[in-house]
Amino acid sequence: MSSIKERIEKLKEEIKELDYNYYVLAQPKVSDYQYDQLLKELEKLEIENPQFITPDSPTQRVGSDLTKEFNPVQHAIPMLSLSNTYSEDELKDFDRRVRENLPSNQTVEYVTELKIDGVSVSIKYNDGYLTTAATRGDGTVGEEITNNIKTIRSIPLKLKNINSKNDLSEIEVRGEVFMEINGFEKLNRQREESGEKLFANPRNSTAGTLKLQDPRIVASRPLDVFVYFLSSQNFEFETQNENLELLKKLGLKVNPNYKLCKDINEVIEFCRYWGEQRENLPYEIDGVVVKVNSIMQQKILGNIAKSPRWATAYKFKAKQAKTKLNKVTWQVGRTGALTPVAELEPILLAGSTISRATLHNFDEILKKDIHEGDLVIIEKGGDVIPKVVSRIETEESKKIEKPKFCPVCNSQLFQPEGEVAIYCQNVLCEAQVKGKIEHFASRGAMDIEGLGESIVNLFVDLGYLKSVADIYELYLKKDELENLERFGKKSIENLLNSIEESKTRPFNKVLFALGIRYVGTGAAQKLALHFNSIDNLMKASAEEIESVPEIGPRISESIKTYFENEDNLLIIQKLKEAGLVFESMQSENVSDELKDKSFVLTGTLSSLTRDEAKDKIIAKGGKVVSSVSAKTDFVVVGESAGSKLDNAKKLGIKILEEDEFLKLIS
Ligand code: NAD
Repeated sequence: MSSIKERIEKLKEEIKELDYNYYVLAQPKVSDYQYDQLLKELEKLEIENPQFITPDSPTQRVGSDLTKEFNPVQHAIPMLSLSNTYSEDELKDFDRRVRENLPSNQTVEYVTELKIDGVSVSIKYNDGYLTTAATRGDGTVGEEITNNIKTIRSIPLKLKNINSKNDLSEIEVRGEVFMEINGFEKLNRQREESGEKLFANPRNSTAGTLKLQDPRIVASRPLDVFVYFLSSQNFEFETQNENLELLKKLGLKVNPNYKLCKDINEVIEFCRYWGEQRENLPYEIDGVVVKVNSIMQQKILGNIAKSPRWATAYKFKAKQAKTKLNKVTWQVGRTGALTPVAELEPILLAGSTISRATLHNFDEILKKDIHEGDLVIIEKGGDVIPKVVSRIETEESKKIEKPKFCPVCNSQLFQPEGEVAIYCQNVLCEAQVKGKIEHFASRGAMDIEGLGESIVNLFVDLGYLKSVADIYELYLKKDELENLERFGKKSIENLLNSIEESKTRPFNKVLFALGIRYVGTGAAQKLALHFNSIDNLMKASAEEIESVPEIGPRISESIKTYFENEDNLLIIQKLKEAGLVFESMQSENVSDELKDKSFVLTGTLSSLTRDEAKDKIIAKGGKVVSSVSAKTDFVVVGESAGSKLDNAKKLGIKILEEDEFLKLIS
């Protein structure tokens, strides 16, 4: 019995972690199919062992996307999830359960709607005007994203056909915000160009976009909406079909591909049809939502813990295809880590031609027993990058050897004890150099506009860049660069200007930009604050480094290794000569008033992004924390500030309006 309990606990932990990555970070770790299998296993164990069900189990709650960055909004009617069905038999079971729970003389009609793979939103209209919009959150409380939602062109700010007589003065509309596949791919291409992290799929880019603090960036992203539900305190509907018709009349965008079905057979037919036709839609759908049409019947059926009994989501299977694995190549990343890539016989899968898939690492190859020459099943799940799911042996199947030498620079490879990754240790390896320069120039680091992946690759290939230090000598080659194909006077001038401007980035950004393994933005900030200069950090012992809060032996070891390398020291020397900032501005900049003071930011500031505000606080010696407590010194409030402001007032913490804040940090 205890092993069942342990398994339940383990599943709960695992699912909670996956939920956090999926809903909050918008970075799924596994495919939806794998996630649903884990949830199903948990559901089954809990049904068999109800004594182990706890209220915080993922089976009892709607997956939460709450981040505490936005104001909370209480939903008048909970925003629920949907039960899932994966086969026609399960749809028939759903229909049987529906009919069993209704008086036997009643017939049941269903409305089938496409299940748009996006993010749900609730939008309130008062007297026809859009007032607030919120995310689903944990189903009961969502987060207010009105300013972001207002940037979506297909969402009317004022509804049509509303007058005081038709009882629609106060309504709530629910729908799904999404991104068309074309728009999503274009956005990812732009991100690739500027060296930013790619979004996994249109759903994740929608989720990530809606959680941005700056509505101007949101407005530049191609978001769209389909609505599917309207509720009003004063207006009773008889059917879901009528509800959809009214939404259209009000000027809201309803997906045209819905159908009133007389019985479950028509529902199944609809699901089959869209299962085949989904590739022809310009947006992604992950299934069909089946809803009982009669509202009176919906009320009789009611809800279970986290989903209504009167609706279900028929989920399409993850898109799979079978093709030949021609060969495995090894890609070298900026830290020198090698990633095996399956080079496939090109095949059409979910609307795009796939010729490569990731194999993650050598252990994965062994685990899945993958051989070159195999037939492999590939799947496009929660990721844009397809995965190899399984293999079928062929006569040509040939064992894959663990590589010994770097495929790019031919130097000997190294596998640290206890790690699955294999590394190329030559810091001058061209693949690493490209990755390092790209990272160095990226937005979170030196933020050099115009130095994205393709230009870095070209400049390295042409010999203009051999290390990050060469970036600051590009101006010497101005004339040559201007004559390169694809470039012109203006674009080179812009590039050189942004390189020059990058010399003002603070020490913590420079430290992060160096790309020391495991030193992310957070660690770089803490180290910069503690050591004040690169020279102090270089001289520090492992113990001293580990005395910095949240810095452990893994980071300190990596820092020591980095500074032991002569090539790295030479690069730092050259960057110093170029005039980069290798010291915290603290001595001149830190104000006694702000040193070690903690700040909480809430709402949107009009003149600074949240990151810019954070940087300024840190440069002054202060720190930024995410929630208000008695220990908080200042709460900075921007537009639409919410519960954090209330908490600050309750605790009597000093509140700063934007202009006061700007004065303090200037
Ligand atoms: P869901 O996506 O299964 O269904 C509910 C949602 O469907 C609603 O909230 C609404 O946003 C949406 N929807 C789209 N069109 C609709 C329509 N016409 N009518 C009504 N609703 C419509 O439920 P969920 O709780 O949002 O997410 C659960 C699913 O998310 C899981 O089944 C899993 O596949 C995926 N997930 C994946 C991971 C991962 O790590 N890969 C983690 C968590 C969740």
